[in-house]
Amino acid sequence: MSRLLIIGPPGSGKGTQAHRLSEQLGIVEISTGDMFRTHLAAHTPLGIQAEKYLDSGDLVPDHVTTAMVRERLSRQDVTKGFLLDGYPRTVAQMNDLDAILKGTGNALEAVLEVTVGDEEIVRRLLLRAGIEGRTDDTEDVIRHRLRIYREETEPVIAHYAERGIVVRVDGAADIDRVTASARKGIETVMARTAT
Ligand code: AMP
Repeated sequence: MSRLLIIGPPGSGKGTQAHRLSEQLGIVEISTGDMFRTHLAAHTPLGIQAEKYLDSGDLVPDHVTTAMVRERLSRQDVTKGFLLDGYPRTVAQMNDLDAILKGTGNALEAVLEVTVGDEEIVRRLLLRAGIEGRTDDTEDVIRHRLRIYREETEPVIAHYAERGIVVRVDGAADIDRVTASARKGIETVMARTAT
């Protein structure tokens, strides 16, 4: 049973790693970015509400995001474990998540931090913009998302690091190597916290 979080700046490859790891570990992947994009495409009320934030690279308000995650974590398929991708992204969300998990007597077991330098991120995301056509992959919006990551999300990692559950992997390495070190790191942290 694994309750995991993957966290990293936009363009760090965390989405790709989240797919691979959740598949290999047999747990569900919960990506708030993907959930918002699905709502957006289906024009649901939540999608309509989230659209302006996604387009400008801003964070959707905490209470909206947390409500969506709370509902997702109440489903049956998370009982075997889950990998959160992109949530929590603020200290307030982190506290919300702690409270949600505490309600079921649980806590996060390992946090995988994928690191990549700013210039490499901008280069990768501009490349992705040409391929996927995401509206939030323009240079200005990319730099804005990065700033939010440094200001709002990095403090979350610092809190988890104090709990001794953070594993850091170099996202600039090749994809297979990142997956392999991620798995090794997660196993090490989980073995440590299990004792
Ligand atoms: P991502 O695919 O993880 O880069 O997320 C894309 C966009 O979805 C972000 O730029 C935000 O607008 C929104 N989003 C995703 N996760 C969150 C979150 N935890 N809190 C607030 N907004 C989020």
